[in-house]
Amino acid sequence: MSTRVHVIGAGPVGLLLTALLQSTEGFSVHLCEKRAEYTRTRMVQLAPYLVADSVESYRTDAIDGDSVEAIFDPPELEEGLAYRQSIAPDLSALLQGWALGFCPLNSIERSLSELIDARGHGVERTAAVVTADEAIAMLEPGDMLLDSTGSRSLLRDQLIPGAGEPAEGANTVNVRLEYALVITFLYGQPYDCNEYCKYYKNKDNPQYKFIPMVHRTHYDGAVSHVTGIVNITVEEYEAMPSRFDGAWLRENAPDVAQSMDRFIDKIKEETQGEILGDLEIVRIPLDLYRARNATNRRWLAAGPSDHPFSHSPVFLAGDSAIGSPYFQSISLGFENAMFLARLVTQRDLAMQDMLDRYELFVYKQWLRVYMRSKMIKHNKDLFESLDNPLALLEKLHIY
Ligand SMILES: Cc1cc2nc3c(=O)[nH]c(=O)nc-3n(C[C@H](O)[C@H](O)[C@H](O)COP(=O)(O)OP(=O)(O)OC[C@H]3O[C@@H](n4cnc5c(N)ncnc54)[C@H](O)[C@@H]3O)c2cc1C
Repeated sequence: MSTRVHVIGAGPVGLLLTALLQSTEGFSVHLCEKRAEYTRTRMVQLAPYLVADSVESYRTDAIDGDSVEAIFDPPELEEGLAYRQSIAPDLSALLQGWALGFCPLNSIERSLSELIDARGHGVERTAAVVTADEAIAMLEPGDMLLDSTGSRSLLRDQLIPGAGEPAEGANTVNVRLEYALVITFLYGQPYDCNEYCKYYKNKDNPQYKFIPMVHRTHYDGAVSHVTGIVNITVEEYEAMPSRFDGAWLRENAPDVAQSMDRFIDKIKEETQGEILGDLEIVRIPLDLYRARNATNRRWLAAGPSDHPFSHSPVFLAGDSAIGSPYFQSISLGFENAMFLARLVTQRDLAMQDMLDRYELFVYKQWLRVYMRSKMIKHNKDLFESLDNPLALLEKLHIY
């Protein structure tokens, strides 16, 4: 008999999970999504480690290569890499392509969704907003429930058993690193950025330095896509709409606009290009968070009950389980999906072992991304003070 897996949320992670399980014998997937169309056009990039073919290439990241070695045991890494090699060629080709350069988020979502439909078997779709009660009621004995509904996870709070409504946020650890403007623009010439360039182009900006993120520029043959962030205060954050353009910035935050102009003028001096269109700006809190429980292990520990969470496995995946700033979340979510797809297909595993292994994996991913994000934030803070030795020393805690 096949195992029925309910996947709630068909964003990139829910879709990848579905595509991975669809090609696995003995599974049928019920995929639920509330959006009728994929419209998010922001450019994202997958980390090269997702398609690594050796432990060495998996660990090449300059910031967290050492952490990976410290946190994961070699056999764990090797098993993960072996699973990657076994991914069906149609899906593997997509992943390889996305790791090469930038790609709009909705193009990742559409390609995965089309691949699932083209294969034509093993997946039933429901187009609707699913409530927590409905998701819980779907779980028949022997089924599994995967919540990939993103940062505002449908079931994260429900994983803590208790009478009455679950307390909001009780199952979440949140570290707010900063408030930022994410600014994106297109430029009509090749433009590449490294740490020297970030420094030089911000030299005359005492405040509101625009920092293109690590590998955050991409030339597609005609146009460079540039995305970066500017640190703002909580007061500035609260006074801004969630999304706006260059005209709004000039009118309402002239100091930030001036800093952007200086940065862009220096790019133009170098490469004689023009900005194409307008700046696109969103203001977001940069949060690093995780679910304290990424499975229903607490329900099992609480003893037998009639509640479906007491007898069927439930997992959080992607942004439901862990969220991180600095443009690394999709890769983390995809890594998560691959581990989970591999785990649930090990049919000889007892449910408790399955939940324990997933919790451990998610915790290790958390350690990795926590250290990486704190390091990036620390480096950014130092960068802001490079021309002011006293301010720089204030931020250094050497021993
Ligand atoms: C401005 C910005 C820029 C970013 N840039 C990058 C980047 O460059 N690189 C990177 O790695 N990451 C980036 N990210 C993060 C990245 O977009 C997320 O990590 C990724 O989308 C998470 O995928 P997910 O599938 O877990 O969740 P989501 O993409 O949030 O998908 C969740 C899905 O669940 C559906 N859903 C939710 N609730 C329900 C419900 N009740 N019923 C049915 N369906 C439901 C939603 O409609 C959605 O389709 C960026 C984020 C932002 C905000």
